[in-house]
Amino acid sequence: MENNPVHDLVVIGAGPAALSAAVYTTREDIETLVLEKGVIGGLAAITDSVENYPGFPDGISGLELADRLRAQAERFGTKLEYGDVTKIENGSDVKKAYTADNKEYLAHTLLIATGNNYKRLEAEGEKEYYGKGVHYCATCDGPLYKGKRLVAVGGGNSAAQESLFLAKLVDHIDILIRKDQWRASDILVERIAKTPNITVHFNTEISQIVGEGNFVKRVVAKNNQTNQNVEFATDGVFVFIGLIPNTQFLAGSGIELDERGFVKTNEHLGTNILGIFCAGDVRSGATEQIASAVGEGATAALTIREYLDQVPARKHGDHPHRSMQTDSRTYSAA
Ligand code: NDP
Repeated sequence: MENNPVHDLVVIGAGPAALSAAVYTTREDIETLVLEKGVIGGLAAITDSVENYPGFPDGISGLELADRLRAQAERFGTKLEYGDVTKIENGSDVKKAYTADNKEYLAHTLLIATGNNYKRLEAEGEKEYYGKGVHYCATCDGPLYKGKRLVAVGGGNSAAQESLFLAKLVDHIDILIRKDQWRASDILVERIAKTPNITVHFNTEISQIVGEGNFVKRVVAKNNQTNQNVEFATDGVFVFIGLIPNTQFLAGSGIELDERGFVKTNEHLGTNILGIFCAGDVRSGATEQIASAVGEGATAALTIREYLDQVPARKHGDHPHRSMQTDSRTYSAA
């Protein structure tokens, strides 16, 4: 493609990890383009109230936090463009990102910060009450239900661990598991058994979330052994049935993923391909917290800065604060 500029950095995704990285890079004159296919701010932007992001003692809405991150990145010159990246390639000189509308972006470095999505139940009422009674993150939204009654769904480690966390806040939790046993580790299952305000219901599949106005009131489920309907009165439903990393576009790219499909990196957030980095929830081992994603964005930016210093084709200014050790291990997980 003629006159297609080679960017210093193309960031794929525009959640907290991506935008923090862009704040750091553009502030240091690393020319940065951010491509996003959905909401600026990622999953964080659709969180009602973020109460555990340091520096905001009264909490902040996810949308406002996203707006502020975006404004801060743009202030230093970050360019944001709509782009649904469907494929990336490690060319001999430059990296390439292709979008669904047939655009090709060239870059010296790529940062994968595409986050993940919570797996949905696909139950009636789930979409309608999303964010106002239906939640997927206990740390984020559990404290909104102090002293209330909840239903949690799932039988894995997430469901067990998150329900134990919620049990400290709420009056009572009914956990609905579709199989006749837990998939979670024994130690968590034992802890659940010893927690008096948790009741576990096996063979129970949720079919409908019912509310009135803006509030969830009850859940309709079915016992898959007896085929009988069961109802649970509740103020909210927490769904913990797994995560889907947004890594489908990496198929065939050579980027190494873990067994669950999340991107593997080294401690400096380099992937197994030199010059391609990853930060935030899409990264294998991420903690799924906004504060952590922001920290990872900063770490990735520092590594990218060091990497770009060694790219001959890229001319850069004199940056005074160079401290991190640079060798190939810094950039590559291999
Ligand atoms: P898992 O895939 O381990 O478990 C998902 C659970 O949700 C299963 O009980 C599954 O049921 C159920 N489920 C899936 N789809 C549906 C559906 N449509 N309707 C009802 N139930 C459904 O996911 P987790 O998020 O729990 O864990 C992911 C990974 O992270 C695991 O490897 C886990 O070990 C790890 N992890 C570890 C922690 C720890 O060690 N403390 C904490 C949290 C996570 P079924 O069994 O029938 O498929």
